[in-house]
Amino acid sequence: MADKTYNAYAAAQKQFDDVADLIKLEEPLRVLLRQPSREYHFTIPVKMDDGSTKIFKGFRVQHNDARGPAKGGIRFHPEETIDTIRALSMWMTWKCAVVDIPLGGGKGGIVCDPREMTPGEQERLCRGYIRQLSRNMGPVQDVPAPDVMTNAQHMLWMLDEYEVIHNGRYPGAITGKPVGMGGSLGRTEATGYGVIYTLREALKALGIDIASTTASLQGFGNVAEHAARLYTALGGKIIAVSCWDNKDKKAYTYRKADGLDIERLAAIKDPFGTIDKEKALDLGCELLPGEDWIAQDVDIILPCALENQLTVDNFNKISKQVKVICEGANGPTAPECDELIKKSNIFLVPDFLCNAGGVTCSYFEQVQCNMNYFWPREEVLEKLDYKMTNAFAGVYRLAQEKGLYMRDAAYVIAINRVAEAVRLRGWV
Ligand code: GLU
Repeated sequence: MADKTYNAYAAAQKQFDDVADLIKLEEPLRVLLRQPSREYHFTIPVKMDDGSTKIFKGFRVQHNDARGPAKGGIRFHPEETIDTIRALSMWMTWKCAVVDIPLGGGKGGIVCDPREMTPGEQERLCRGYIRQLSRNMGPVQDVPAPDVMTNAQHMLWMLDEYEVIHNGRYPGAITGKPVGMGGSLGRTEATGYGVIYTLREALKALGIDIASTTASLQGFGNVAEHAARLYTALGGKIIAVSCWDNKDKKAYTYRKADGLDIERLAAIKDPFGTIDKEKALDLGCELLPGEDWIAQDVDIILPCALENQLTVDNFNKISKQVKVICEGANGPTAPECDELIKKSNIFLVPDFLCNAGGVTCSYFEQVQCNMNYFWPREEVLEKLDYKMTNAFAGVYRLAQEKGLYMRDAAYVIAINRVAEAVRLRGWV
C-alpha cells in the first residue's frame, strides 16, 4: 500500500474493462458494474485510554447486491484508502459469484493501527463503526466479516452493538464470529485451506505431485498460517515465509532450506502476524530481507499478504523453477505484471477464486445461524472443499476451452453470473 503510484481501484477496473470487452458486455451493465452501487464514509469518535478523544475515518462500500446481500470483510490498516476498499468490494462480488454463493460484494475499512491500540480502544472503535453503519447493514443488506488485522473478537463486539441497536439477536448480520457465539467451526482456517484446495487442484491439472513440491509464502497472518499448515500436511515443504515485523517496522524473510516447521513458527507469532525474530533464529531460520521471499528456488509462490506485491519491477526476481502462483491475498498482482505472467510458463490461481474459502465458509456460517444448528468441523470443511474444487474446475475448464488466462476465465464466469442476475431483476 505504500506505493503511491498504484491504485487498487484502477487495477480492479482495468481487469473488469478488459473482460467486459472480451465478452462484449452491454453498456449499462459496464457502467453499473465498474463502480460500487453505494458507499458510506463516516467519522468515528473514540475515547482513548489516556482520556483523549481520537476521530477515526471509516468506510463501507457495497459494490453489488444483485445475487444476494453484500458480503465482505472489514480491514483495519493505517494506510487504508477509499479506493482500496472500492476495489476490494468489487473483488468480493466476483468472488461470491465464481464460487456460486448467493451473496454480493462489499468491503469496509477503518484507517487505524490496532497494533498500537489497547483492547478497550479497539472495542470502542468497533462499536463506533457499527453505530455509524447499523441502518445500512444487516443479514439482508450487507454482512461484514474479518479481514486484514480484524478477528473474531472484533466481529463479536460489532455484532453486539448491532444487536443492541436493533433490539434482538441477529447472528446472520456478521460472520467470522467466535465458535460458540454463532461462529462456524472451520471458519478460522477456511481461507487458508481454500487456497490449498485450489493449489491441490492446480497441481493435479499440471500433473505435479504436491508432496514433491516446495513453496515460498508472503505473509503470516491468518490466511498464510493456515495455508502453510494444510500445504505441509499434504507433504509440501515451505522454504521461506516473509512477514512484517511491527517492532522494526519492516518485513523479513525467514528461510530454512530443509523446510520450516510451521507449527513452531505459528507458536512464536503475535496476533497480527509478527514473528519473534530472536526465537525464529533459535529455530534455525536464516533471516533475509523482506522482499527475498519472491526470489526463492521453489515450485510455488503464495502471496498471502496485501495488494500490489507482484509488479513489473520484481517479476524478473521470480525463480525459473516457479510453476504456480497462488494468490491468497486480494489483488497481489499489479495488472502490468499480469501481462508478464501470461507470457511465462507460470500457472496462476487468481485471487478471487484462490481465496474464496473464507467467504464460502462465512456463507455456511450464516446458513447455520439461520437454522440455529451447527455442523461438525469435518462437515464444514468437506462442503468447503467441494465448493472450491467445483469452482476451480469450472474456471480451469473455461480457460482450457477458450485458451484464456486463468484470471480472465474466472472473470468471465463471475461477470456473466452477476450480469445475468442484474438482467433478471430488470435493472437494465
Ligand atoms: N475478508 C475475506 C475475503 O476477503 C472474507 C469475507 C467474508 O467472509 O465475508 O474474502
